[in-house]
Parts: sequence; C-alpha cells; structure tokens
Amino acid sequence: MKNIYDYSLEQLTEYFASIKQKPFRAKQVFSWLYQKDARSFDDMSDLSKDLRNQLKVEFSLDVLKIKEKQVSRDGTIKYLFELLDGSLIESVLMIHDYGKSLCVTSQIGCNMKCTFCASGLLRKQRDLTPGEIVAQIIKVQQDIDQRVSHVVVMGTGEPFDNYDNVMEFVRIINHPHGLAIGARHITISTCGLIKGIKRYSEEGIQTNLAISLHAANDEIRDELMPINKVHPMDDLREAISEYIDKTNRRVTFEYIMLKGVNDDIVYARQLAHYLRGLNAYVNLIPYNSVDEHGYQPSDKETVEIFKNELLRLHINVTLRKEHGRDIDGACGQLRAKRSGVK
Ligand code: SAH
Repeated sequence: MKNIYDYSLEQLTEYFASIKQKPFRAKQVFSWLYQKDARSFDDMSDLSKDLRNQLKVEFSLDVLKIKEKQVSRDGTIKYLFELLDGSLIESVLMIHDYGKSLCVTSQIGCNMKCTFCASGLLRKQRDLTPGEIVAQIIKVQQDIDQRVSHVVVMGTGEPFDNYDNVMEFVRIINHPHGLAIGARHITISTCGLIKGIKRYSEEGIQTNLAISLHAANDEIRDELMPINKVHPMDDLREAISEYIDKTNRRVTFEYIMLKGVNDDIVYARQLAHYLRGLNAYVNLIPYNSVDEHGYQPSDKETVEIFKNELLRLHINVTLRKEHGRDIDGACGQLRAKRSGVK
C-alpha cells in the first residue's frame, strides 16, 4: 500500500494521468488531504465512487497510529506514533504565543552518535519517507483540531542524512495547495553535514537553517559530536558563511548548556569570536538529562553569566524556554524508553 502523503501535487497529477483521469483530480485530492481534513477516501465527495474505490486499493491515508500521548503542565504534547511497519517515532507539539510549533522526526534512530543525545541510543534503522513526516503534522492537527503553524525538523534523526525526503516533505507542506505552511515558519536543524548545507544553499527557498553547535572549540566539539572529526568547525563556518551569502538568511546556532563541559565564560568568548561577522544568533538550550550519558544541565547562574557575556560581545542570544521537561521532552527519550533501551 502506498502512502498518499508521499506524493507531491506534480506526482499525483502524473498518477491521475497514468490512470486516464483528468489532471485536476490531483488538486481535488490534495485539497481534501490538506485543506478539508479528509480522514478517508470516502470523505472525498466530489470524486466518483469508482475512483474512490480505486484509490482505496492503491493508497493509504492512515499511516500513523497514536500509541501514546503525554501532556505536560505547560501544554506541550508529546506523541509516540506507530508507523505501518511497526516502528515507533515521536513528535512534540509546543504552544507558543505566536502559534503552535511541531517538532518532527526525520529518521528512525540516528547515526550521528552525539554523546549527550537520547536519539543515538538506537542506531538508524531507516530514513522516513516524505509522507511519514507529513503525516506527523496531519495526525497532530486532527488530534488537537487546530492548525500547526510552525514546523521544526528537530526530532530524532539527522535531516541532511535524509536530504531528498526531507526537502520533498518541505515542498509538500509549503505548497499553497498543500498545508501552505510558510517557508519562514519551517526550520531544519543539522549537526553540520556540509554537503547538506551546500545543497540547502541552492534550494532557493526561504526556510530556516539551525546548526547544532554545542561547543566553541574543536576539542570539546569532537568529544560531544563525532561528526566534528569529519567536518571541523572551520570548515563548518565556511559552509555556513556561504549559505548566508547565498540566501541572505539568518542562521540559528543551538548551544546546549552542559555543566562543567561547555559552559565556562571562556567558551562564551570563543563562541563570540567564532560567530563574529556571521548573520547569526545563538539559542542557549537547557539540557534535558539523559540518564545513560552522565551530563548535567548547567546552573541557572552559569547560564546567565554565559548569556550576558555573549550580549556584552554583541552576539544576539536567546535562552530557550523549556518545554515539556516533565514528559521526557528531549529527542528520542520516550521512544528509547518504550523500545526497552532505557
Ligand atoms: N540532527 C539534528 C536534529 C535533531 S537534534 C541536529 O543535530 O540538529 C535536535 C536538537 O536537540 C539538537 O540541537 C540536539 O543537539 C538537541 N538535543 C539532543 N538531545 C538533547 C537533550 N537531551 N537536551 C536538550 N537538547 C537536546
């Protein structure tokens, strides 16, 4: 059975041509899927019964099951989904004053082996298809009966290690006949795969880029993120600088504050030096402890000092508000538990 959400409007149009149907059928189906909230092909009342039956045989639009749902005191909702093949993935919905933001998963497991992250507790089993990422948004919208306005590809997985599927996903949700989520409301977060950053520079799309930096020098970054041994920080900086030149977009640098590891004021100065001249801002992230890894979140005062030093050095910085700390909010935590790794 094919996942209907894997199809772009162009691909659906080709499909309808191949079964000798009018091309505008594709637009009709797209609008049922993304604007009129169809839950089954039978809902698509402007298609003939025969056509609906034919679609039912070939396509599924029920590709995710909610296995578990945790609601945090701050309104954050964490979903554990089961895919058609039985795999488990997570999505996290965060409520902001500017809208509802969904953090989606892009791979089952992850191969990047960052030492502080729960996702890597399970090696990558496979990439998600575009439609499996799209369906995370659809399912959540149906569950809360409201629109998701912002999407961050920051769940389990490395999006640039699944580049084509992730970009196809972005085009489907950004399409005016699709979910029509504005490009500026879509962010892809990478641990720094340079080939991906280069390709992303060429997409000609106004989506955002976030870089998981988490350290201000190669020595510490090597320790936290093995990818740094392949792409050291100088190379990464060059790729990001080219990205900014080409796209004119501001880049977010994520920096998890880890007690006694990367939170000394000296590193704030190194970080400021690294970012000098880049159109960038830093998002300091409170660490969600993962029992296996032994890292601790930095103290509030240490974070304040670090932040103020960046401000003093004229680096734009925000402190990420914590969401869902009481519900295993960090990437892969719930899934790892339910899969028996934790
Ligand atoms: N692979 C991509 C996207 C997934 S990780 C990337 O590296 O950006 C999404 C973000 O969550 C990254 O910045 C990651 O470093 C961070 N993260 C992972 N584990 C965390 C934890 N336990 N607490 C806080 N942030 C975490």
